[in-house]
Amino acid sequence: MVARGQPQERQEQRVGRRTRRVVGNWKMHGALARNAALLDACVQRFQAAAPGVEIVVCVPFPFLAQAQTLLRESDVAWGAQDLSPHAQGAYTGEVSASMLKEFGAAFVIVGHSERRAQHSETSALVAAKAAAALAGGLTPIICLGETLEEREADMTEAVVAGQLAVCMETLGLPALGQCVIAYEPVWAIGTGRTATAVQAQKVHAFLRARLGETGDTMTLLYGGSVKASNARELFAMPDIDGGLIGGASLTIDEFEPICRAFD
Ligand code: PEP
Repeated sequence: MVARGQPQERQEQRVGRRTRRVVGNWKMHGALARNAALLDACVQRFQAAAPGVEIVVCVPFPFLAQAQTLLRESDVAWGAQDLSPHAQGAYTGEVSASMLKEFGAAFVIVGHSERRAQHSETSALVAAKAAAALAGGLTPIICLGETLEEREADMTEAVVAGQLAVCMETLGLPALGQCVIAYEPVWAIGTGRTATAVQAQKVHAFLRARLGETGDTMTLLYGGSVKASNARELFAMPDIDGGLIGGASLTIDEFEPICRAFD
């Protein structure tokens, strides 16, 4: 477990050159009483997690205050699942980086495939959101990944390279280096179908190579039906620094072994 500190300090702590992370994405799940039990369990169980592993939970907006209250004295960081590309203004329903920051969020997911698909988010919008997050002092977790059709058409590398290129152009490499990248094949999210460790490693190595030297210090997460039973094999891969975990982050008995699945 990384040592405790303010979210910004925690973000900067590294093991070797890269921080290993496990990030829970609660999606649109939760209720106050249930969350309290899960967050309390996280606090208890992760007092002595694997050395050098940072645990993060990304909760729905209304639960940020609860996460702040329950996690502020713990080793678990928290974040949100989306944000506005704008700093403030007439954007009904949107939430800015500074609002997330006021609730102690250190991270924010951008470009999750569910938002790309269900809200028509383009790579340009995802990059603008990542820029807004960085400007507001948050670490964006930028999600990339191909659909099943794209994989079957042998387009995986072209698709993720295209998504990454928009972020590189918009943010520039030094700023992109402050972000976390999550490779999440769309066909593996919430489907129970996981990329094999070899498939995932191949894409991670490709992404890291595209990032050049900047990639040497970046955390690259794998996401897509990670479970206690497959996490260790995935996390053992040289370019996989941890996971973005959806369904399995909702129960402590599944989430904890994933968070400990590092050698
Ligand atoms: C996710 O929500 O990013 C995700 C990977 O979900 P799941 O683990 O449920 O596939």
